[in-house]
Amino acid sequence: MFAVDYTSGSGFLHTKIGDVDFYCINDGDGSMPNALFPDASRDILQKFAPSGKSPSSFSAFVVKKGTQTILFDTGNGNQLLTNLKTAGIKTDEISAVVLTHSHGDHVGGLFSGDKQNFPNASVWITEKEVPYWKNAGNSALLAKTVDAYGELKIITTDEKTPVVIPEVVAIDVAGHTPGHTAFLVSSGNDKVVIAGDLLHGAAIQFPNPEISCRYDNNPKQAAESRQMLLARAANENWIFTASHIPFPGFGKIEKAEKGFKFVQQTNLK
Ligand SMILES: [Zn+2]
Repeated sequence: MFAVDYTSGSGFLHTKIGDVDFYCINDGDGSMPNALFPDASRDILQKFAPSGKSPSSFSAFVVKKGTQTILFDTGNGNQLLTNLKTAGIKTDEISAVVLTHSHGDHVGGLFSGDKQNFPNASVWITEKEVPYWKNAGNSALLAKTVDAYGELKIITTDEKTPVVIPEVVAIDVAGHTPGHTAFLVSSGNDKVVIAGDLLHGAAIQFPNPEISCRYDNNPKQAAESRQMLLARAANENWIFTASHIPFPGFGKIEKAEKGFKFVQQTNLK
């Protein structure tokens, strides 16, 4: 159980992490079919995803402190703008867009057509992710992003260098993509980790973190990063959230007999 209050409207969750405002913003819902997990045995799929798919969502996150409003990822840009508005966050108050990685369902909301969605924001990413973004088929979007938002700001993943504000540091969780990054937000006694695409099928991968997804660029490295971050979240009592946990995926990680268990904060609907 967490001692945090929250309000949840349609498509957003708001809570306080120490004196920082924290939001999960829903960009849409979906599901991940079992075919995305070729390394999962038939027994595992039958046990954890008997319907043939795992429920999922596309989420972005906002951290607000003083004059800084940081948006972590932008979803596909489906319901993001509507749900930011419902949460009372204006697009022109976003001062930084911090990216976990460069896949379309995380960078797609930077623009609506040719319109720059966050006119006062800089865009932050790791150095390792830039060549991947350039080569992975959406180099046009990268060029368009630099054109509109200015030169990319480079994130350091030494877990000491602040990312935009002192309360945020970056953790290297490479594997899903070469520069895939998680972000740890710490304030007061609370810590929450934004884990990006550490997992896609929550139902399958929390209990079986060794199983990677077809979307993982380097499946072996992705599995190592997954096990490392889930173990740290469990050991260090972090609140855990990630882009594709069914919305609002905001809870704690417990070690299970095998793998881990995601315990949604009990007072969330
Ligand atoms: Zn994704």
